[in-house]
Amino acid sequence: MDGFATTSTAAAASDRGPFSEASAADIISCEPATGAEIWRGKACDVDDVVTRARRAWPAWAAQPLSTRMELVRRFANEVRKDAEKLATSIARETGKPLWEAHAEVELVINKVEISIRAYAERSSQRRLDSALQGTMAVRHKPHGVLVVLGPYNFPAHLPNAHIVPALIAGNVVIFKPSEKAPASGEMLARCFHRAGISTAVMQFAPGGPAEGQAFVAHDGIDGVLFTGSANTGITINRRLAARPDKMVALEMGGNNAMVVWDTPKLTDAATLIVQSAFASTGQRCTAARRLIVKSSMYDAIMGEVKALADRLIFGAPFDEPAPFMGPVIDNAAADGLTESFLYLLSHGGKAIKHLVRPDESLPFLSPAIIDTTTMKDRPDVELFGPILQVIRVDDFDEAIAETNNTRFGLAASMIGGTPQEYNKFWANARAGIVNWNRGTVNPSHSAPVGGIGLSGNHRPTGYYAADYCAYPVASGEMEQPRAMIGIGLR
Ligand code: NAD
Repeated sequence: MDGFATTSTAAAASDRGPFSEASAADIISCEPATGAEIWRGKACDVDDVVTRARRAWPAWAAQPLSTRMELVRRFANEVRKDAEKLATSIARETGKPLWEAHAEVELVINKVEISIRAYAERSSQRRLDSALQGTMAVRHKPHGVLVVLGPYNFPAHLPNAHIVPALIAGNVVIFKPSEKAPASGEMLARCFHRAGISTAVMQFAPGGPAEGQAFVAHDGIDGVLFTGSANTGITINRRLAARPDKMVALEMGGNNAMVVWDTPKLTDAATLIVQSAFASTGQRCTAARRLIVKSSMYDAIMGEVKALADRLIFGAPFDEPAPFMGPVIDNAAADGLTESFLYLLSHGGKAIKHLVRPDESLPFLSPAIIDTTTMKDRPDVELFGPILQVIRVDDFDEAIAETNNTRFGLAASMIGGTPQEYNKFWANARAGIVNWNRGTVNPSHSAPVGGIGLSGNHRPTGYYAADYCAYPVASGEMEQPRAMIGIGLR
């Protein structure tokens, strides 16, 4: 699709546009809001990291489960102690407002108790009766060495959502943070180390796509736990297509729909829409990208949405008064989003609110809304930024068809309508998260978090991360051998 840049593709490059002066092996992280460098380091040596992890695994796996649980609880305490520093680093490195970075740190802390509960429930030991008064035991084993590849948008919470359950289950972890957020990744890793989890059991391994590829291809790795773009996820899946022995958990992007049907609560509806589309400057996998509106509701709801979006403050993370949203991650992402908005405009889209970039040298973008109802062949890509497309429809079946008019399948939400209509929406919307009168963002990690289609490979994270961090082993067991052959003997 010429001229239509997907920001995920742009984001996959380690280049940070005008900010970058790195040599191939250097990883440099810059503040999106200012362009100032905040972290610089060498990419890890992949072979060394894997060798160290393999050596560390047997002793870690042999620890009692209670010890591993105690250690991750200590990790939560270390994060609590460092909360201010970690939030500040996340805000600087991603550009998200400080209040939002604090919320991310809370998610990191809460993940520990959620994962302990999840392990107990989903990976617990069971004994079943079997023949001849024997028992059948079901227990879980860790995979071994798991590599966690993190994204930049939640540089602590999302890698952590893999790391904590993986460690509890008895795996050792190699954590390769996004090359765009290594400083926050390193700070997170230090909290594990201060808690008493060794630097070999939870290794911090900075690097970019090249190191990511090398880990994926490495024979010493037992699995890849990935959160990032669909393009990268597909590359990883392809690379491991002939390796069914490796665990591959892919959490990828979305082209998520929000449907607005009959509702008298216009202000609440508009608030949910604006939060879903523009929180984190649209840099959330679950962000609403497409708003599907019943024609008879269109003028009323779009008036409210536009008025609210006009009031949103976008600015630097530490500004006062606090902004609602910060910049996007870098100039390459801002360029790609601007190009994509122009593509939509020049192919039949009608701007309700233009995408504005006040300073060409920095990646601040305003929230943007564009009606693409009459556009032929709307590109089905994830625009990872503050662009909301609006599509008007006349009947409910059309709304459901439009919801599913995507290869992705992460989140879908319906605002208004009757319980019967919601039941129909729930049954037919193809997504891993389906909500009613709630936004698309902020999925609960006490529930599964994942999608279908290009959004994931049926291995949701959240509460269900326990399932991909250990495999069940069935064992028929008796204290003494006892057997007889009843039929067919001479
Ligand atoms: P990305 O795919 O560019 O990078 C993610 C990680 O993969 C990084 O650590 C990167 O270095 C590594 N990587 C890049 N190319 C690789 C390759 N060929 N082989 C192995 N590793 C490679 O993603 P991003 O831009 O950092 O993150 C934004 C994307 O993440 C968006 O698409 C967003 O929707 C998605 N995301 C998904 C979820 C979810 O839970 N489903 C959550 C947050 C973000």
